[in-house]
Amino acid sequence: MTFSVHGLPVARGIAIGRAVLVASSRMDVAHYFIDASQVEAEIGRVRSGRNQVVDEIARLQQSISLMGPKEAPHELSALLDVHLMLLQDEELIGGVKHWISERLYNAEWALTTQLEVVARQFDEMEDEYLRERKADLEQVAERILRYMKGGDAVVQPARPPRPERKTQQDLLLDDTLDVPLVLVAHDLSPADMLQFKQSVFAGFATDVGGKTSHTAIIARSMDIPAVVGSRSASQLIRQDDWVIIDGDAGVLIVDPSPIILAEYGFKQRQAELERGRLSRLRHTPAITLDGQKVELLANIELPDDAAVALKAGAVGVGLFRSEFLFMGRAGNLPDEEEQYLAYKGAIDGMQGLPVTIRTVDIGADKPLDNHQQGSAAARDESHLNPALGLRAIRWSLADPAMFLSQLRAILRAAAHGQVNLLIPMLAHGHEIRQTLALLDQARVDLDDATIPYGPLKLGAMIEVPAAALTLNIFLKYFDFLSIGTNDLIQYTLAIDRADESVAHLYDPLHPAVLRLVAATIAECQRRGKGVSVCGEMAGDTSLTRLLLGLGLRSFSMHPAQILAVKQEVLRSDASRLAPWAQGVLAADEPGLAILVGG
Ligand code: PEP
Ligand code: MG
Repeated sequence: MTFSVHGLPVARGIAIGRAVLVASSRMDVAHYFIDASQVEAEIGRVRSGRNQVVDEIARLQQSISLMGPKEAPHELSALLDVHLMLLQDEELIGGVKHWISERLYNAEWALTTQLEVVARQFDEMEDEYLRERKADLEQVAERILRYMKGGDAVVQPARPPRPERKTQQDLLLDDTLDVPLVLVAHDLSPADMLQFKQSVFAGFATDVGGKTSHTAIIARSMDIPAVVGSRSASQLIRQDDWVIIDGDAGVLIVDPSPIILAEYGFKQRQAELERGRLSRLRHTPAITLDGQKVELLANIELPDDAAVALKAGAVGVGLFRSEFLFMGRAGNLPDEEEQYLAYKGAIDGMQGLPVTIRTVDIGADKPLDNHQQGSAAARDESHLNPALGLRAIRWSLADPAMFLSQLRAILRAAAHGQVNLLIPMLAHGHEIRQTLALLDQARVDLDDATIPYGPLKLGAMIEVPAAALTLNIFLKYFDFLSIGTNDLIQYTLAIDRADESVAHLYDPLHPAVLRLVAATIAECQRRGKGVSVCGEMAGDTSLTRLLLGLGLRSFSMHPAQILAVKQEVLRSDASRLAPWAQGVLAADEPGLAILVGG
């Protein structure tokens, strides 16, 4: 039966495929695709895990048989029988084999997927006793997982192993995966998303998250249709259901009828045609009708993204979110050398175009790991308001050794091309001075070690109202500013950007937000300093004319958005937009004013 689930549209387009549910169970396992050549070995791992649990139970049963009825009640023996029966259940083991051999899921993913399928069958049972056996099933699966990890200790949620990546091409060449797949999960961390970045998924849907949560940002950067904040999608959708993800409307259509499928297939083809049309603009310079040059830059997460940025016609990288090099590393953070090579990779990839590297912005909805331990940010996560806690530059300044190694790596990379250094979330003059002192220290370290390094332009992100209201302090120290509207909106309006329950209040067109953005652009222009917007507003074509009208000439966004924004720029007359934009700025309801004129 067809039904729909509504959420927030975060990455445009239509995806049609079978659902892959990533269980958000307490069994924290890695999800990755294996090679076809690894199928037998993966099945073998599950089989061996299962056999070890069977042996364990047999040993227990034996020791029970030696006890008297007082020490070993009959129920215990009966329970172990149930566990043995479940372990031999073909539905469970046969299903696991299916997910491994047909879908190339890794063994742990296959086991938790099948566990969920069987658990749903238990949920639907009339008989209460049988229904309650679901808990036994979960215990059995947990024990298998534990043996698969090679441990026999009490079950602890363990850190997933670092998954091996397959390239998209490898997977696409694999004809066992010819059915498009869409990923459905309760939640995905930015690190999870990064892991899926090179995978086959045609679309994403999560129960939680806001439009500018980092998970949504990565989905957009992958240019894959996505819906977040659907609240119950992972409960309502079942493994292998056919699902349409409408990333334009923020709707998921489950088990669509042939008529609906045909309609969405048509929409998909239309979008393809539009993409084809836009691709012709790739080499066209971004100049408005009245001759104003506009710089369209790319936001990237990993060095390899530079190739995508170039292909999209970006004239540089306006934001390299370096924190993605630090995520999902199980505490094993990249050292100076590894970082240097990564930054150099991005610089080389951009073939002489400028690259703006932002120092780590860990914290809030970007934890180092899904289950951090021992890190500064882990301590912060235990606080009630992580977005207001030890995040970004605060995190870096709290660990000067780590920060210095990042600064040295960036300085060294700057010997290979034009590099701008960008500092996130500054609010205080003393934070600026401390940062600059550490930058001086990093240069001294390199001088002492006679390691070559290059010049940097220095930039600060304007993401906190306190910064936007004290631009004079910032402009004393920095060569350029970059407005991080995602956080500026969050902190101005007191709306958690990752919380779907307040997503309707997250408003880029709130007069307070617009005034802070406009004042920052105007002040930088007055002082002859560079200014760009690198938050999601920069890639939103419905806001391009307004930002042009406010004087913005540098936009940094996901590569996937560049050509659509360029099309808006080419159609705009900036001189005519300026008075209109001032009117929007003065309006009580800029959202309504923007609909008029321009
Ligand atoms: C922003 O806040 O607008 C920004 C670009 O940084 P991030 O989204 O990574 O917080
Ligand atoms: Mg930010």
